[in-house]
Amino acid sequence: METLTTPDRMIRLAVDLVNTKTLDPEQLTSPAALKQFLLDHGEPTATVDEDDLAAMKAIRERLRPVFHAEPGEAARIVNELLTEYAVRPYLSDHDGSPWHLHVAKPEATWAEWLAAGSALGLAGFAAGHGFEAIDTCAAPDCERVFVNAAERRPRRFCTPTCSSRTRVASYRARQAAPRIEQQDPGTEERA
Ligand SMILES: [Zn+2]
Ligand SMILES: [Zn+2]
Repeated sequence: METLTTPDRMIRLAVDLVNTKTLDPEQLTSPAALKQFLLDHGEPTATVDEDDLAAMKAIRERLRPVFHAEPGEAARIVNELLTEYAVRPYLSDHDGSPWHLHVAKPEATWAEWLAAGSALGLAGFAAGHGFEAIDTCAAPDCERVFVNAAERRPRRFCTPTCSSRTRVASYRARQAAPRIEQQDPGTEERA
């Protein structure tokens, strides 16, 4: 099954999985689409069926609130996933692969594997950077999630595109209604 399980990689998988369905149309429309998603994330040998697809979507919806919820609730969800899916970590060099860490049970399904790895990845990230670095885009018409390890530079948007789009929209809104309370760009990170 999995070749490498590093925390960064598992966080990327969690973020990308949640972003397969936001306000944009569902991307995981078939087992083939899930197979492609896993292939794109370095799992060329994945074989998946409709059950895997349904299970993966269920895990996706359990991961989503980690990016939305208050820290206490986010931690509760991560702990719940760890309890359900993570096992005592162990090293493996199966199938001639280099030594790597497994955190899911040996016979785990792809959904269980992703749940265990991403819960552990997000737990480590939250412990290192705080849950404020695990967030959802602030643009009103975007629900994409992201993680931001750059503590000195808090981020509110998933991409520079959403940031500049929102800036333009709020500038236009101010032009249209100059009497509404103006937001000082220098202090907006307080919100
Ligand atoms: Zn492995
Ligand atoms: Zn966005």
